[in-house]
This record gives sequence, structure tokens and C-alpha cells, in this order.
Amino acid sequence: MLVDYHLHTVYSRHAEGTILEYIKRAEALGIKEVCFTEHTSRQYLTEEFRAKLPYKWMKDEELPKYLDDLDRVRQHTSLTIKRGLEVDFFAGFEKPLQAFLEKWPLDFVLGTIHFIPKYDMAHVGLVSDEPIKLLCNYFTLVRQAVETGLFDSMAHIHLPWQTVPWPEGNEGKQALEALGDVVKAAKANNMCLEINTRAFNFEDYGTIEVYRKFLGLMRDYGVPITMGSDSHLPSEVGRNYPTVIEELARFGINEVAVFDQRERELIPLQQKVRR
Ligand SMILES: [Zn+2]
Ligand SMILES: [Zn+2]
Repeated sequence: MLVDYHLHTVYSRHAEGTILEYIKRAEALGIKEVCFTEHTSRQYLTEEFRAKLPYKWMKDEELPKYLDDLDRVRQHTSLTIKRGLEVDFFAGFEKPLQAFLEKWPLDFVLGTIHFIPKYDMAHVGLVSDEPIKLLCNYFTLVRQAVETGLFDSMAHIHLPWQTVPWPEGNEGKQALEALGDVVKAAKANNMCLEINTRAFNFEDYGTIEVYRKFLGLMRDYGVPITMGSDSHLPSEVGRNYPTVIEELARFGINEVAVFDQRERELIPLQQKVRR
């Protein structure tokens, strides 16, 4: 089966397309299940903290409407539609975040790190620092998020290595250890990590060799994957799936996680995908 567990629509404020437009595209590609993952508006943060964040994304009052919309579109498709959110992790707000997540009828919570406190809340893609420092700072935050146990999967761990080049020599080893610590923590916390298929666009620094290091760790530690395109346009649904599925197969990764009311199930990943 093919699934896409990372989709943004107009609700996320920086994406285009309605829920129904994404569904039509998924149907055309033979994808059987999708999970929408709009950015939360961070209801679990204090006003003071929120004021530091550079983007607004989905408004608080839109969340119930978004969830209602997802229920409504089910009548127009044979696709399985899941209710998700992409939720930013900030250390110190675990309790209110937990209360927020328990309040809403969600199938899937995709944890995420976009903004880095150490860099004055800059978006990871806009940070300039020594590669080893950015990589280790980012992986430390992802590991902390994993260790809260509040999320089902963590999004796009590749962001820092598409911002800076992966270092050579000892620093390269050190970065790999920090990445390995995230994967180990995911295993220890019975959590998934995302294969974000946008990473396979390989713009800038993110080469296939670096992504393969990550896939090797996922295989070695036996961490289940979620898979998503991180679409911000309906045309991006299922992006790079043929390539990604071939890569996953090389590492013996042939199952993908799906969620229902936060309960995980592993299903076989479809092996042949039209290019
Ligand atoms: Zn994201
Ligand atoms: Zn996203």
C-alpha cells in the first residue's frame, strides 16, 4: 500500500490547495491513505513565547473547522483520511502540549523542529553556523522531542544537512553519532521517524549518500518509518515515491506505519510504483 502522511493545505497559511484537491491528486497516484498534518498555531505556548516565533501558520480558531473539514471530505472519496497535526516541540512546554494533544481527536501527531532557541528562534534553513554545530544542535533537539514520548513520529530530520554540508573526518563521525542517538532514542521510545520524500529533491547539500547514512541507522536499529511528501501544493503529493521506495528496499525497509486515533499499525509498503 502507498500512504502519504505529511500534507499541508491552505490551512497552514503558506501552502496552496484545498483538502479535496490533495485527495484528487492522491487518488490519481494510487495512494490509498493520506494524513493531513497542518502546522499548529501553538496553543500550548505562552503568549510571550509565541511572540518570538517568526510564522503564524494555522490560526487557533481554525483547528475545529479543519478537523470538521477532514470528516466531511470522507464522503467524497474512497481514500482513508486521517487527522494529523505537525506540532513544534519546545522544551519546557511538555505539560501544556500533552493537554493540548489529548483535547483533540487526532489520529497522528508529527513532531517537528523548525525553530532553534540557540539561534534566536531562527528557522533551521536560515541558520548560519559551523556545520557540525548546527547538525548536533538540531539532532539534540530532535532527540529531546523523541524522549518526551508525546509524538508518533518526527518530521524531516534531514533539514540541517540540506542547510549545511555534512562535515568530513572526525566531525562527520561526530554528526553521525548524534544522528544515531536520535534513532536509538526512537527505538527506546517505541516511536517512528519520518522518511520525508521532499529530501530526495537533493537541492543544495543533501546528497543521497547522506540520506543513506540515515536509512542505514533506521535499518540497524529497526525503527519503523512514517512516510510523507511534505506537500505544500497538490501536485507534490507522493513526490519522489518511486525513487524513495527503491532506496528503502535497498535497506530492507518494506513496511510503513499508519495510525488510527494514535494507535500504530505497520503495513507492507507497495514495492512497485509508477514513475
Ligand atoms: Zn515541517
Ligand atoms: Zn510539513
